Amino acid sequence: MAAEYNATVSGRVEVAPGLIILRVVPDRLPFEFKAGQYVVLGVKASVLRVEEAEGESEPSVVAGARVDSPRVDSRRAGAGAASALAAVAGTPESQAAVDAQAAAIAGAAADPDRMIRRAYSIASESRADEYIEFYLTLVLSGELTPRLFSLKLRDRVYVGPKAVGVFTLDKVAPGKHVLMIGTGTGLAPYMSMLRSELVCNGPRKFVVVHGARFSWDLGYRTELTGLARHCRNFHYLPVITRPAEDVTWRGRSGYLQNVIASNAIEEETGLPLTPDNFDIFLCGNPGMIETVIAWAAARGFVRDKGHDIGTLHTEEYW
Ligand SMILES: Cc1cc2nc3c(=O)[nH]c(=O)nc-3n(C[C@H](O)[C@H](O)[C@H](O)COP(=O)(O)OP(=O)(O)OC[C@H]3O[C@@H](n4cnc5c(N)ncnc54)[C@H](O)[C@@H]3O)c2cc1C
Repeated sequence: MAAEYNATVSGRVEVAPGLIILRVVPDRLPFEFKAGQYVVLGVKASVLRVEEAEGESEPSVVAGARVDSPRVDSRRAGAGAASALAAVAGTPESQAAVDAQAAAIAGAAADPDRMIRRAYSIASESRADEYIEFYLTLVLSGELTPRLFSLKLRDRVYVGPKAVGVFTLDKVAPGKHVLMIGTGTGLAPYMSMLRSELVCNGPRKFVVVHGARFSWDLGYRTELTGLARHCRNFHYLPVITRPAEDVTWRGRSGYLQNVIASNAIEEETGLPLTPDNFDIFLCGNPGMIETVIAWAAARGFVRDKGHDIGTLHTEEYW
């Protein structure tokens, strides 16, 4: 049976350009899930894309990205980017991606009723049954996010029938502390875990290390700063990667992997960052995840593989 709309947008908060918090109310409540899980979200191909979105046939570009990575924003970067795009487009892999995107556009034109669906981590508390919250990045050349970003209050969306995923706190042994490392919207599952499972001043320590390009991209910062002020067992380490362009920032900067390797966790918590003390969660950018896995594996952390329970848990977004 074709997927049909079954939820309504009830809230939309613009965190920064290209970053929103979206709340939806499923027609059927309560919506059961475990903190850390994800669900499919979708809208039909006929929904208009936000004005700033690019053609769907261009390689993926995240809102605000510059020409210092293989992902290139051709509108901002001009001729240099155009040649970079041409170079990238010359490889067989990128040609396959371009072909897939071209096919998607043709599909949208051919079938405006087609439901475009992607996975999204749930950011809201698992016990609350009023709405489900998502933290979303706009991928300018993406198929779904330019449509999600155009949604207004009371618009209809599709939410998959069941939340899924094993990126939860279920496998963390009693007495262990939790280190949550995330880039960008990779913070979403941690918001759900904290909102659902943090016992303020309880025995389990929770540490969030959140990386973004600029301080204004650090979503949920006010909530997390307040939580850290009130709960001795919660530590919040926001980190930005572009301090030169964020002149009032006085906090940490650099890549998350370097912050982790710099003893920052030990200094914050007073505990050695070992598998006896902590489980590590990694979410978001696959590059960050890969680097931290290598670093943590060298210190005895073992990747969780479902049946073989480990101390290193990962959720890659792409
Ligand atoms: C388990 C899981 C949970 C996810 N949870 C979230 C979430 O909570 N919030 C969220 O914004 N996204 C999340 N994603 C990513 C999401 O599913 C989509 O891939 C993303 O929104 C892009 O969709 P699109 O159709 O606009 O782009 P597409 O046309 O599908 O293009 C995909 C490309 O966009 C880029 N991309 C995808 N996600 C991101 C991102 N978050 N940040 C930067 N670049 C990205 C990558 O280059 C990727 O190859 C999750 C993915 C998975 C697998």
